[in-house]
Amino acid sequence: MFYPWTTVVGFFIGAAIGSFLNVVVYRLPRGMSLIAPPSHCPACGHRLGVLDLVPILSYVASGGKCRHCKGRVSARYVVIELITGSLWAAFWWQNLVEGEDVARFLVLAAFASVLVAASAIDLATYTIPIGLNALLLLFGLGYNAWLIVAGADGAWAHLGSLALPASVAGALVGVAVFWGIAFFGRLAFRKDAMGHGDIMLARGLGAVLFPATALVGFGLAVLVAVVFGVLQVLLRRPPETVEESEGEGEEEPPETVSSLVRSGLGYALAIDVVGIVFPSLDRWWFGQELVEEPLEDDWTPGFTHIPFGPYLAAGAILAALFDRTLLGWVQSYWNWATGGP
Ligand SMILES: [Zn+2]
Repeated sequence: MFYPWTTVVGFFIGAAIGSFLNVVVYRLPRGMSLIAPPSHCPACGHRLGVLDLVPILSYVASGGKCRHCKGRVSARYVVIELITGSLWAAFWWQNLVEGEDVARFLVLAAFASVLVAASAIDLATYTIPIGLNALLLLFGLGYNAWLIVAGADGAWAHLGSLALPASVAGALVGVAVFWGIAFFGRLAFRKDAMGHGDIMLARGLGAVLFPATALVGFGLAVLVAVVFGVLQVLLRRPPETVEESEGEGEEEPPETVSSLVRSGLGYALAIDVVGIVFPSLDRWWFGQELVEEPLEDDWTPGFTHIPFGPYLAAGAILAALFDRTLLGWVQSYWNWATGGP
């Protein structure tokens, strides 16, 4: 539909979105407004002008320094712009150059952008804001509604004689898999096995990708986590044991099984999403409001482990990019194993 060169346009729109995501990643966990005040240099407070805000190019042209005070600008800003730009370019190519599917491009570009922000915030704070998880679910439901209206293939998922909108089926699969890990991990090891943020994230991934691709994404997430885990063990110097034993002493008791069951049901019914608008619903169902307390300004993360959220995001994005190839492999293996066509 589009010429291949337009992918460059997709890249720069994505990079500009990435530049906004940098604002989201910094301000959302701190409970600050995403719009005001306008961006300023964190070192000298100088308000950034148009020349400072061209994604990637501003950073390269200024050598990673503030033009006014020469203070260093964190490389994180340009990394997030590059990643977001690359993902937009990839989905642009897949759906607008090779394919002709504007709706799928829009939902996947929005999906990838939220996942970049969620991953960066999870890496920094070990939590995923519930607003971002709610957005993913709403993107999936909205896209699915469009498919149903357009009468497109794949809008419905069939479970025997039961037909569910594919996004609802995917969301339920996401909750079931990750709540299941949390539940059986809790029973078997008497420890919290999976964060609630990860269950909500998996629900959003299922809603956007639909059941089959989401399951591929969950599998890829585990693979990516194993590869990175092995690399980390190989590359990292041994942790200081004193610090670890101190941390263990402060560990909170694990969640009760009944609270876990109630939470899982709440996520399946998306009570947390409605609770963003009606906090009393959260208090009634979960016994507390789920919206995170804003971070203290002097808060710093301790990088002792990588949370699972970024792995889930990476697995989901890989699945969205390569699902046809991957599902094709699964299908041919299945056919070969069962002697079918
Ligand atoms: Zn400055």
